[in-house]
Amino acid sequence: MTHPLFEEAKQYIVGGVNSPVRAFTGVGGEPLFVESAQGARVHASDGRAYIDYVGSWGPMIGGHSRPEVIEAVQRAASRGLSFGAPTEVETAMAKRICELVPSIERVRMVNSGTEATMTAIRLARGYTGRERVVKFEGNYHGHSDSLLVKAGSGALTQGVPNSPGVPAGLADLTMTLPYNDLDAVRQAFAEKGDEIACIIVEPVAGNMNCIPPEAGFLEGLKSVCEEYGAVLIFDEVMTGFRLAPGGAQEWAGVTPHLTTLGKIVGGGMPVGALGGQQKIMEYLSPMGPVYQAGTLSGNPLGMAAGLAMMDIISEPGFHARLDQRTAQLCDGLLEAAREAGIPLRINRVPGMFGLFFTDEQGPISRFSQVSACDQDRFKRFFHGMLEQGVYLAPSAFEAGFVSSAHSEQDIASTVDAARTVMARL
Ligand code: PMP
Repeated sequence: MTHPLFEEAKQYIVGGVNSPVRAFTGVGGEPLFVESAQGARVHASDGRAYIDYVGSWGPMIGGHSRPEVIEAVQRAASRGLSFGAPTEVETAMAKRICELVPSIERVRMVNSGTEATMTAIRLARGYTGRERVVKFEGNYHGHSDSLLVKAGSGALTQGVPNSPGVPAGLADLTMTLPYNDLDAVRQAFAEKGDEIACIIVEPVAGNMNCIPPEAGFLEGLKSVCEEYGAVLIFDEVMTGFRLAPGGAQEWAGVTPHLTTLGKIVGGGMPVGALGGQQKIMEYLSPMGPVYQAGTLSGNPLGMAAGLAMMDIISEPGFHARLDQRTAQLCDGLLEAAREAGIPLRINRVPGMFGLFFTDEQGPISRFSQVSACDQDRFKRFFHGMLEQGVYLAPSAFEAGFVSSAHSEQDIASTVDAARTVMARL
């Protein structure tokens, strides 16, 4: 039976959702409708509370409805919702970002991750005077035309559109290479290096499940970029402030020329940002010739929520605790799978994890390995967990997120649920 709220939504909203993965297309069935959320739980319209490992797809690293965040937004709202003129809180936000992420010397606030990456590649193109962009298979950088491109038939062929509506001529400028394959990157630059403006990469991939970089991969990207005069962009929309206060670049010890941010930076409000070396950032308008603008950019409610969330992640020991909780969850799930005789592999970094139902014995580090996993078993696991009151990301290609609000007890309950579900998988 179709959920009445979903049925009605479909009468007015395309597909009943405002972002496709919410429709449960990856797992089948119908989405949860959320009424409210507190701490580690979302309360759904079916009257049940679910332990939540989606966390609004990343922003809720400190848990839902943190009083500090809500109150900061309420205080800001009482002074007005938007002015379209500079405010002091925007400087506070930019200063905070520069302090936490030292490779960022100048910042521009935008309204989503998509806007951040779209602007970053325009800036890289404007700065270098080159048009080609290198990205990686299985990485997602939002839905701007140049980035909604998949690999052509051979690794070094030009990209093809991922969606109707993306002009083939533009897709042709995007080269999509295998993640963690430095040889492919070197070969691409050997052939077209003087035409490549930038490499954009998820420093830990979270949009093809969870795939950390192999040792030397990020360092290699940086040295190739420096050799050929291209810009290295770390898309830290997902990893920023999560893996460490300074994001994946702090965690990995490799700094890019430009960084894109989203999710946590807005604490749950629609906020994104890009930042990086001053000499590159100053190519942006109004200082430089590369145009970029936004009516609501630097919105005071977004800045207030983001700053409050950044206070939370700056508490001493925050990431160590998050890492420990992530480890507890992953160890528990592996143990439950072992007991049930289900082949399961898990990748994890602080606050982020990915489950792979696969017989592979070695590391899972390529998109092709993710695609080869048992999708059907994942779907049954997902729905089984939902029945048990645990809300995982509704797709085998999305990373899961742990927040600081997940208590040891929440994690133990999650592992118990997994034991029940795996026994009948
Ligand atoms: N980059 C990455 C790495 C992302 O994970 C996402 C969204 N999941 C985006 C960009 C796009 O961000 P938004 O959905 O805010 O446009």
